[in-house]
Parts: sequence; C-alpha cells; structure tokens
Amino acid sequence: MIYDDSMETDNTEQSECKHDCSTCSANCSSRTKESLIEKPHELSHIKKVIGIVSGKGGVGKSIVTSMMSVIMNRRGHKVAILDADVTGPSIPKAFGVKGDVTGDGNGGIFPLESKTGIKMMSVNLLLSDETSPVVWRGPVIAGTVKQFWTDVIWDDVDFMFVDMPPGTGDVPLTVFQSIPLDGIIIVTSPQELVAMIVSKAANMAQMMDIPVLGLVENMSYFKCPDCGKEYHIFGDSHISEVADKFGYKVLANIPVDPRLSALCDKGMLELMENDYLDKAADSIEKLLD
Ligand code: ADP
Repeated sequence: MIYDDSMETDNTEQSECKHDCSTCSANCSSRTKESLIEKPHELSHIKKVIGIVSGKGGVGKSIVTSMMSVIMNRRGHKVAILDADVTGPSIPKAFGVKGDVTGDGNGGIFPLESKTGIKMMSVNLLLSDETSPVVWRGPVIAGTVKQFWTDVIWDDVDFMFVDMPPGTGDVPLTVFQSIPLDGIIIVTSPQELVAMIVSKAANMAQMMDIPVLGLVENMSYFKCPDCGKEYHIFGDSHISEVADKFGYKVLANIPVDPRLSALCDKGMLELMENDYLDKAADSIEKLLD
C-alpha cells in the first residue's frame, strides 16, 4: 500500500471531528451542504424560506422582498422577513417598524411585527441610531445573520423571505450555506449585465442545490400617468432572453413607480395597491402544495 498525506488527514479528521462543520475549516469528505445548515430556534416552525438575491445593491431587492411579504400576508399566510442585507438594511423603514427588541431571557429574541402582522428582524432594529453605518467585517455580518435564523423565536411562519446581502461574495455564500432556503428569486434591473448576474446567482444556487424560482425585473419601464405610454428609461429589457437561456420563469416586470418609493419613505408600504408581483406570489404559493 502506498502511503500519502491525505490518509493521515483522514485519520486526524475522524479522531478530531466534532461534527460541527460551521466551526471547522477542514475540507474533509464528511463536509456536506447539509452539515453547514443551522437549526432554527426550537420554537420556530417555518414552512418555506425564500431568498431574494441581486447582483448589486440598489436594484430593488428589498422592495421586492417587502412587496412579496405584503401580498402573501394579504392572502392569509403567516409571513416573516429576515433582513440579511446587514449593511443596507431597509426593511423596517419600509414598514415603519421601530422599537425595542426584547428577548425571552434565555438567549431567544422576539421579532418585531408590522401593522398587519408581518414579523421581521433586522440589524436596524438593534441599532440605537438607525442611521449609524454598519461597518462590520464579513464573518461578523454572516454570524449576525445566522443568529437571526437560530436565535429569533419566529413561532409559526408559512413564508419567510430573506433579503439576502447583494452579490455573490463571501457573505451571501455563508448565508446560503447556513439557512435552508427552499428557493431563490433573482432581482435584476435593465441597466445591469443581466446574463452575467443571473449566471453567477444560478451557479451559487446550483452549488447549494437550491432551486431558482424565477427572475423579477425591477424598474423595467416608466408608465406616463398622463398618456399611459411606457418608456424604457433604463434601456431595453433582456430579461426574457436570459430567462429562456437558463430555463427560468420571468415572474414580474415592475415599473418605476414613484408611489412605491413614497410609501417606503413614509413607512407605509402595506398600503400599496398594485398587482406587479401577483404572478410571482401564485408561483410561490404552489410551494406549499
Ligand atoms: P436594494 O435592496 O436592491 O438595495 P431597494 O429595494 O432598497 O434596493 O431600492 C433602492 C431604492 O429604490 C429605494 O429607495 C426604493 O424605494 C427605490 N425603488 C426600488 N424599486 C422601485 C420602483 N420599482 N419604483 C420606484 N422606486 C423604487
């Protein structure tokens, strides 16, 4: 028998393995996707977890997360939002949610609720001044997001939407690995290199074995309120071609709608009146079947 280094590594791995891949850097054969996934709090019962991803910040990932939550809540589902976009947390503001986060005295944290009962947890709810910048390094950010999953007492939830950190770097990757996502929605805008962004997100999802539920194009066009004509102010859309290429569905084309940004600014997104994401909601609802 020929001796090589990997055998020694294997033996060491077996003798020292603590069966917790999240705190171990060994690249051993028993390291699996499942082994990195964290367990939620024992009082959390979450049926479906949907990640909302984008290639960069500012394309509307948070507004899509918030709007999806509003629609699913209106349809009678129990909804929660885990704001994993730690350095740009905008979810509580869109819902006008502020207040003190409290715990159960045992390490468990209670989420806050919007006016219509959407549960949420975000770094912004933990900062004494919500305008303070969050200047944390990647591992701290990833650790905080993990805690939102493991330590928050979400109770019964039908759909949890995770506003993912933008991009496909280290932090989103850790979030992908630690939260058991049932699917992702990729948000893009017409001015982006859509094919590249979708391809990167698709690769990441494939590595983790997570289905891509579909694509949402935000800021697709602007509809003139006077004449009804549609203007493609950020350029022509390539979303259908890209969707066809990857075999994904286009779930929505959301226009630039000043009413949406105004409602977000006032913390009253729950009053929105539009059907932009109804098709996406139909698709996601089927996951419960
Ligand atoms: P991201 O989460 O990708 O960083 P946000 O959802 O926070 O992006 O959106 C960035 C800004 O653009 C916010 O002020 C939001 O209100 C605004 N916005 C996003 N989508 C639209 C839209 N379709 N119409 C009008 N304003 C929008």
